Amino acid sequence: MKKIAVWKFTSCDGCQLSLLDLEDELLEIDKNFVISYFLEASSRSPEPPFDISLVEGSITTEEAKRKIIEIRNHSSILITIGACATAGGIQALRNFASLQTVKERVYPQPELIDVLPTSLPISQYVQVDYELQGCPINKQQLLSVLYSYLFGFRPSLNSGSVCMECKMRGTPCVMVTSKTLCLGPVTHAGCGAICPSFGRGCYGCYGPKETPNSPSLSRWAKEKLCIEPTALKQAFHTFNCIADGFKRFDEDD
Ligand code: SF4
Ligand code: SF4
Repeated sequence: MKKIAVWKFTSCDGCQLSLLDLEDELLEIDKNFVISYFLEASSRSPEPPFDISLVEGSITTEEAKRKIIEIRNHSSILITIGACATAGGIQALRNFASLQTVKERVYPQPELIDVLPTSLPISQYVQVDYELQGCPINKQQLLSVLYSYLFGFRPSLNSGSVCMECKMRGTPCVMVTSKTLCLGPVTHAGCGAICPSFGRGCYGCYGPKETPNSPSLSRWAKEKLCIEPTALKQAFHTFNCIADGFKRFDEDD
């Protein structure tokens, strides 16, 4: 049986909860994997080495930098889960501002806050074997990735855009029907195009798809939907604001 550890860095715990949320599959998971360390579910201490480490959260402190290197050294496979771990998360918005300013705005005693000037993804510090995007991740995708490693083949998930999922479920395009900005054309598939199915534009929770053409979408949105540059920037500056493909769109535009 493969031994799994689940780790948390700077994050909201939502992606770890996806594992607990696999209610119908938990017994089957338990037959095939030993969940050796998972603080969200058990107070058991870590006992390395691990076959698979699932890592949630971004790196924001010196202590976290040391810990992720230690985790990497004790793990055969390291999989990052969620926008925080794969792209720095919503907390990476502070990368665009002065750390001191952010600390003063948020905390009554900013001098007590000892953090790095940036929030960065795990891949900036150690080698990552697989990245599962999303805020939060899709629990079925997590299951698929775990079984891929159990049976010894590389995971194969849909690498297309949210538009593909949107068309497959037969949803009318909100950009065409209501001139609503939608990041679906440049966003990685995985959510099942939930937002357009409720008449809203995609928020880009799953981050950039492979080779996204964000500058082209931005130009089109300005010309055809009359979206203001500030609104466009805000649309890209959310959960995956420093991901390649989203963070540079306004420089190229
Ligand atoms: S990616 Fe989203 S759901 Fe997952 S830990 Fe970060 S903020 Fe929470
Ligand atoms: S609504 Fe959004 S995701 Fe759906 S087809 Fe239109 S642009 Fe793509």
